[in-house]
Amino acid sequence: MEASQGETSKPLEFTLASVSSLSPHASATAQSSQSLARFCIDYGVTELRIYRESESNELIKVDLRTSELFKLSPIESLCMSEGSESSKAVRQDSYSRGIFFRFRREDESAAFHFAFERWKKEAVAQGIQLPNGKFSSYKSKFDAKIEASSAKMYFHYYGQLLHQQNMLQDYVRTGTYYAAVIENRVDFLDRVVVDVGAGSGILSLFAAQAGAKHVYAVEASEMAEYARRLIEGNPYLSQRITVIKGKAEEVELPEKADILISEPMGTLLVNERMLESYVIARDRFLVPNGKMFPAVGRIHMAPFSDEYLYIEIASKALFWQQQNYFGVDLTPLYGSAFHGYFSQPVVDALDPRLLVAPAASHVIDFTSVKEEQLYEINIQLQFTASVGTRVHGLACWFDVLFNGSSVPRWLTTAPGAPTTHWYQLRCVLSQPIYVMAGQEITGRLQMIAHNAQSYTIYLTLSAKMWGPGAEQGGILQTSSGKMELKEPYYRMSQSQTQAYALPQYQQPNQLIQDIQIESPDPDGSKLFQQQMQTADTQLP
Ligand code: SAH
Repeated sequence: MEASQGETSKPLEFTLASVSSLSPHASATAQSSQSLARFCIDYGVTELRIYRESESNELIKVDLRTSELFKLSPIESLCMSEGSESSKAVRQDSYSRGIFFRFRREDESAAFHFAFERWKKEAVAQGIQLPNGKFSSYKSKFDAKIEASSAKMYFHYYGQLLHQQNMLQDYVRTGTYYAAVIENRVDFLDRVVVDVGAGSGILSLFAAQAGAKHVYAVEASEMAEYARRLIEGNPYLSQRITVIKGKAEEVELPEKADILISEPMGTLLVNERMLESYVIARDRFLVPNGKMFPAVGRIHMAPFSDEYLYIEIASKALFWQQQNYFGVDLTPLYGSAFHGYFSQPVVDALDPRLLVAPAASHVIDFTSVKEEQLYEINIQLQFTASVGTRVHGLACWFDVLFNGSSVPRWLTTAPGAPTTHWYQLRCVLSQPIYVMAGQEITGRLQMIAHNAQSYTIYLTLSAKMWGPGAEQGGILQTSSGKMELKEPYYRMSQSQTQAYALPQYQQPNQLIQDIQIESPDPDGSKLFQQQMQTADTQLP
């Protein structure tokens, strides 16, 4: 794909123990402090840039097309490159220079070498100058389909400890993962594991506890650095875990995995579109017939009746029915406001007694589904009403299966089961339909993925009206709605939000838990303060 002027692809980063340039022309060296090596594409040129950790301006820039990397020792490497020291300054004199890298650990050095070779290959294959004078550039599968601004917000969110804490404090979620891993040690023992979207690194630590030979913890957000620190602080496990900062779609791993572990589920299973990353990781890293934890996901759906919810939503728009709001007639926008409120799927803990028919399910097998099959999901619906009532829409939830060799285990988000931070989701129709007990309800749920890491939902429910005309097939009542999965209405009561972690990604009002603030260590204090500032909380 062709890069537009000035476009910069998403970088891939490694931490270096030290780096020094051997060229007399080089303007800077960074022998002492920790530095970052970043692979990136700028103006169509694939580069390796070296930054001092605390600074944003690069110290050294290397064009990968004209560079070679040599291993000097398990943690030392030398990069030889042809000298175009700066891409902007046109220098005619050609010279070579060497950059000496020292890594903190052998596995980080190995991962860097793999990344170097891959980015170089891409650079050579795609960095050919096009007839129009521009360079074609490599875009990962993630970058090609996700809007940069959405990805930026998304990874910013997950880069903050408080959001990882929210997930860790969902004990149903985290406890079920723990049980599934520990009860199925046999699947992890002496195996290579990849943790896709490792976050705080918790699942990597679980896998290491279960005896994994080595775990690669892949995390794209700034959380990767926290995960490194958490893992280093657990020395019995840390020797067998390598944190790799980058996207599952982009990073290179030194070996194939026997098993993938991940928690890629969003609201309605598919929100955030991370299942696609999980599936891409499967195709990139997993050995044939390797295991996936979880291996299967199911979306469950049932029609529901809830007058209170319906009235609550409909009445939100009443504001726009005022004809004299400081002398202004608001009614021209009433219709849009009304539809706007119904376009928000409702997230809360649902009383299962509100369901009016046994649920239907849609299965997604993570071990075989193609990434593209997740771009558009179509589910035909058919239910038999158990009661006569008004149907206000469709309630949805999901579960996932850890198909362990010893103990298969489900993580469920069903109504009535212990609540998780996903709660349940309801698509509410602006026009309810009437049903009688025993009557058939048909319809369709269509979900179309978009480049803001979510889905547009189209829901139709129909029921044949009984009474006059029934012998001729009845009169069909149909109600349809279009909803935006990215803009849910979080309707939890205060007790619900306190009892459980808040929803994954996008929740509007962050609840700051009561934290006992102890004096953090000097090294930790910087990150701690940043965290607290982000959470809009004052340190005492
Ligand atoms: N595994 C952790 C975190 C789960 S949340 C736990 O169970 O607690 C999902 C994590 O995946 C987030 O930290 C997010 O930044 C990361 N992530 C999402 N998409 C990713 C991708 N394509 N590549 C790498 N990490 C990704």
